[in-house]
Order: sequence, then C-alpha cells, then structure tokens
Amino acid sequence: MPDLNDLDLNKETGISQDSYEPPSDFFRPDILPGEATFTRRGEPVFSLTKDNHLQTKMTAVPVGKTSTVDFAVFTTPSQFRSSTSADDYVRACGSIVGGRTVKDYRDAILMNAGPFNAVIKWVGWCKDCEEETIGAKRNQPKFPLGSDGVISHIGECPKCGAKIGAKPKISRYVVGGE
Ligand SMILES: [Zn+2]
Repeated sequence: MPDLNDLDLNKETGISQDSYEPPSDFFRPDILPGEATFTRRGEPVFSLTKDNHLQTKMTAVPVGKTSTVDFAVFTTPSQFRSSTSADDYVRACGSIVGGRTVKDYRDAILMNAGPFNAVIKWVGWCKDCEEETIGAKRNQPKFPLGSDGVISHIGECPKCGAKIGAKPKISRYVVGGE
C-alpha cells in the first residue's frame, strides 16, 4: 500500500456529494430514453413463431457503453404499415432484405450487426400485477422527472402502487430518410 504521505492529497477522489445516491434495489440504467447508436453483441437466436414467422432474439450495446439491451424482431407484417420489425432492423443497419423467404430474412439479419440507431424507452414491469405498467403503452404513465429535471429510474405502479425500476427497451428503429 502506498504511504498516504506520498500521495497528492488534493487530488479529487470519490463523488460529488450533491450527486450521492443511497443504496437501492433499483439500478439506474445507463441507457437513457431517446435515440442512440447500437451494435449487436453475440449471435442472433432464431426460432419460428406459432404462425410460422421468423423470430430473432438479439442483444445490443450502445456505442461506448457496457450495458446491454435485449430485443427481438419478427417477420410478421405490421398491422399499420407495410413493414416488419425484421425489415426495420435490417434497414436501420443500412441494408435491405434480399427476398421473402425465411432464409432471406435469416441471412440479412446474420449479415447486419450494426451499427444501427434506435429509440429507447424506459418501461417498468410490475411483479405484483405481472405486466408492464409504466412507459410501455401510450395510455400508461412514464417514469417521473425529479425536481432536478432528470428522469427518475424508480416509478410507482399506477395499478397497485408498488415501486418499479426502469428497464431500457427498444421502442423503434431509426431508418434513413426520416
Ligand atoms: Zn402493480
């Protein structure tokens, strides 16, 4: 151990006391709500849904960060737009799917590992209500802003009042041309 007398005692250490956060069951995610650039980590995991569409589970890391977000894309056509989440993902990576078969989609997803841009939202899973009750749907409350204007990662379940921690989730992909 170095002798304290050898150290520069004026060197800053620790934290700013204004920023102290007490220990808690809830970690503050370092992926904030809003748009960020991601790259994929690890290999995609493919399966088929009950109605024979391709489901792909993947993990992504924001550029320059270490925390990860899990997400899945599907070849099921959207009800609202001529697209699928698999197409949105591949196009956000700057490519397009070469055809309509399961193999075409699988190959396109394998070849495209990012970087891609996506918009993150924070959602809260209530273990008592066994559903996402914060931030997941338009009619649900979002995580609250603190008096300092910074979003809080702890919210109150609107149905049962339990405390819920925030989890980052991809809300949509950013496809060029927007
Ligand atoms: Zn609840």
